Formats: sequence, C-alpha cells, structure tokens
Amino acid sequence: MKFLELAHLYEKLENTSSYIAMREILSDFFKKTQKEELENAAYLTLGQIASQYADVNLGMADKMAVKAIAMAGGENEKEVLQQFKKLGDIGKTAEKHAGKGTLTVKTVFETLHKIAQAEGGQSRDKKIKLLAGLLSQASPLEARYLARIVLGDLRLGVGDKTILDALATAYAHKEARKELEHAYNICPDIGIIARTLAHGGINSIKKIGVEVGVPIQSMLCQRVKNIEEIEHKIGYPVIVEEKYDGERVQVHKGKKIKLYSRRLEDITLQFPDIVQAIKKAVKGNCVLDSEVMPVDAKGNLLPFQILMQRRRKYDIQEYIKKVPVALFVFDVLYVNGKSLIREKYSKRYAILKRIVKQTGQIKLALQKTCKDSDCIEDLFNKTVEHGGEGVVIKNLHGPYDAGARGWNWVKWKPEYVKGLRDTFDLVVVGAYHGKGRRAGTYGALLCAVYDAKKDKFLTFCKLGSGFKDKELFALLNKFKKITHKPARLEIAKTIMPDVWFDPRFVVEVTGAEITKSPNHTAGYALRFPRFLRWREKKPEQATTLKEILGF
Ligand code: AMP
Repeated sequence: MKFLELAHLYEKLENTSSYIAMREILSDFFKKTQKEELENAAYLTLGQIASQYADVNLGMADKMAVKAIAMAGGENEKEVLQQFKKLGDIGKTAEKHAGKGTLTVKTVFETLHKIAQAEGGQSRDKKIKLLAGLLSQASPLEARYLARIVLGDLRLGVGDKTILDALATAYAHKEARKELEHAYNICPDIGIIARTLAHGGINSIKKIGVEVGVPIQSMLCQRVKNIEEIEHKIGYPVIVEEKYDGERVQVHKGKKIKLYSRRLEDITLQFPDIVQAIKKAVKGNCVLDSEVMPVDAKGNLLPFQILMQRRRKYDIQEYIKKVPVALFVFDVLYVNGKSLIREKYSKRYAILKRIVKQTGQIKLALQKTCKDSDCIEDLFNKTVEHGGEGVVIKNLHGPYDAGARGWNWVKWKPEYVKGLRDTFDLVVVGAYHGKGRRAGTYGALLCAVYDAKKDKFLTFCKLGSGFKDKELFALLNKFKKITHKPARLEIAKTIMPDVWFDPRFVVEVTGAEITKSPNHTAGYALRFPRFLRWREKKPEQATTLKEILGF
C-alpha cells in the first residue's frame, strides 16, 4: 500500500468532526485494505508503530525533526526552524520542503522502527538521517503526516475505541464490537487485534486469551453511596480486602519476569528487588495483579508520596535501600498456560494461595470473608489503623473484568464517609490494642449510648478514625483502666475489647449513617464514626438510646 493512501485518509479524518462519519470513513478504508497491511495501517492511524506496552520510542525531538526536514530539502536549518516557529506545526513545515515521490507503508513502518532502534553515541545523527531519507522521497501530503507521526502529534481525533468500532463494521457485525473490545482489554495491541480479525474473523478474536508478556487492562472498582448497598449490588458473603494506596503492578512471570503499571508501561527496571522476591516466592508461570507499597523496616505501610522516589531510571540500587517496598498480591489472571479471567474469584484466589508463598516482600493482601456490614466496617477500621486507604469489597463469584468498572469490585474509602447532619456524644467504655502504625496505643475505642430508662450504657460503635497521631498517643493516659466490665455496660460477646475503662469520658463523634446491628447492644450501629472532640459532659448526659431511635 502507498503511504499516500494513508495520508489521504488522514486528511479526510482531520476535516471530519462527527464520530459516526469518522467511523464510516475508517471502516470503508479498512475494507479496502489488504489483510497483510491492516496491522500497520491500524498502528499508524493511532500514531504508533507498535503496541503501547511494547516500549518502542522514536526518541525524536522538535529540533531533530527540523534538522531532518532541512537535510531532506537541502535547505538552511535556521530558516526551517524559523518557519516551524511561525507555523507551530511540524507537519505543515515538512510539507513545504517535501520531495515529489511517494512512499510505501512498508518502507515507512520499517524505517520508523530503525529510527526507534538507533542507540548509542551516534544515534541522534542516525535518526535524523533516516528521517531525512524518508522525507526526501515523500510528497507534501505524506511529509505532513510523517512528520506529525514522528513527533507524536498526529491529531486525527481517532482513539483506539474508534478503530475497534471501524474494524467491527468492516470485518464483522455490530454485535462483534463487544467481543473485539473484550479481546482488546486482554490484549491491548491494536495491530494484533486487526491482524487476527482480518485473517480469522470473530471466532479467532474470541480465542484471544491472557498471555505472559502481554499486559491486560486492569479491572477497576465501582463505588457505592452507602455500605448497605453491598447487599443488593453484590450479596453476602463477600470478600473484604485492604485497599493499598501505592502503585498497581501486573506481574508477568514466564522465563523472564516483567512488571507493568496500570497504564501498561513496563516498569520492571524500577523494581529489581521485587523481581528477585517474586522469583523466590511465586511458583510456575503466571500473571498476578497487585499493588506495590512503600514500607518501613518493620513492614508498616508508608504514604504513597514516598513511593514516587522509586520512579526513576538512575541510582536504582541506592533507592532500593532508601525506599523499601513490598508487593501486596490480590489476584491471579493466568497460571501455567491457562487463562483464569473467566473463572470466578473464589477459584482464582484458591489458586493464588497455592502459588504464592508469603515472604517479607511478597504478601497476599489482608482480607476476610464478611456476611454483614459490621464485619466490613471492622476491616475498614483496621486499614485506617494501618494508614491504609480503605477497603475493596469483592464478589466471590465474579470473573476478572479486564478494563471494566463493574460491581464485582467495590471500593470504600474514608472520604466517602460524608456524615450525618447531627453528631453524637458517646461514652468511652473500652478500647482495642493498635497494630501497625498504631502499635503501642489504641486502634479503636468502644463507645456507648446511654439508656436513660434502664440507666445502662449500650454499645454503639468502635471509633478509630479522625484522630491525629498526637491525639492517638495521648489516649493512653486519658482513661482510667479497670480490670472488669463496667457495671452498667451491656455488651455482646462478639465485640469484647482488650481493655475496659471506667465510663467517664464523653466524645463527640460524627458518622455516615445508623444501621441495625446485632453486634451492638443499642441494636443499632453508627457506621464509619469519626472523632470530632472531647465533651465536658457526664456520661449520663451522653446521647440516649431514645434519641438514636428517633433518627
Ligand atoms: P481507585 O484508583 O481509587 O479507583 O481504586 C482502584 C485501585 O485500587 C486499583 O487500581 C488498585 O491499584 C488499587 N488497589 C489497592 N488495593 C487493592 C485491592 N486489594 N484490590 C483491588 N485493587 C486494589
């Protein structure tokens, strides 16, 4: 195919604003394209010469392109630079100095790959010469788009979704679009998708599965307004898992180990320590989904910002020591030749447990099975204690929805806890020991309302969030510990605290909502409570059972 044909297509697309019209133009073009050429045409139309995850970069800057244009036309470089500055468009600049011939798509594609491969001391000159060679053979229209491709500035308004739509219209029926998108989510390489469809039709597309070395689009989380929605959206029991605020890492373990980011970039070289740790901890060939987190010497989680220092090309060994990290693995998508993404989560997790041996650096995400919202809240509070980001609630029966934001994963973060209009004054009757960042102080306080009729205290919530670090450690000296349950307290066996307090202090608390709870003797629980301040009140002046029943 002549590159001029592509250039004409790009000119047409550039002058079209309607999405439908663009799709029609593209699908007509793809219908006429020879099967062998479709792959390259699809890449180039996205301004690529390989899949986005292949890490193929042309490595050309504006000035290099200007040099190549000048060299191709035998012109003065300064003048071309002036012109480029005036026009502000490398395409229009190249067009003015183009030759007369035409190029083939094959030549363009192969030469662009040579430009990408040029390395070492002379690479700059080599790249410029290669581009100048192409431009000197190109007609003005070809030069316009060639120069834009080289600088990553094609600006056609065509995204990968448009290409998928056009391919579906050209080579299959409308309904095939869903299958194409699914395949593209598993294999985000427009060239492979175009080639497979052209040669084997939609049946071949359906056979595309997870492969080691081809990163798949990550599954994403939905969100709910309140935690009660979980029952309808997923249905109990669910798996509740700590949500780590680090960087998503897809691990591909075959002969080599590769790590990919959520944007499908190859980030293997940033984490040689994780690669070594995976070798020791993980059995067989597999693809894992995980989050990498910065940790301190004891393995406690550290804030996300610290991890940013590991995003580097140089001094990597030094930063392995400066910023230690651990990998929290939460899913497996492929194992020993078998794609698992259509399997239900409970099965995938059973396999994950079998192939991952937990070590200091490779861990399975903290999780538990929950049958009610009390249990979800418990793990949520634990993650707040860790300095964690919240929880992800997972459907035991859900497949791995590559690239999709569905109800099989639901995230719940502290910032969703908006709060009721009124606050509550609660009596502190006990506490639970802290772990992780809260080791040495309390993880949560057990709080109660006052039942004025019976003159009793009834438990209502566990309060762990809203404290500043300083306030947390001040808690240790605030309360008067007693060795037994306070006499007027009624409590269920399921929530016994580690220490009891004389019911003396009243705390003002806000929360997300009040829901029925079998675990709290008030019969109701305050969901996602947050500390506001201490009140100068007697325990009997705390919020009463009658008041909360009125909510
Ligand atoms: P968000 O970025 O807030 O939409 O939340 C989704 C992200 O949470 C995912 O892309 C993961 O990077 C991250 N994440 C952390 N822990 C987990 C987990 N246990 N399960 C799934 N995703 C998690």
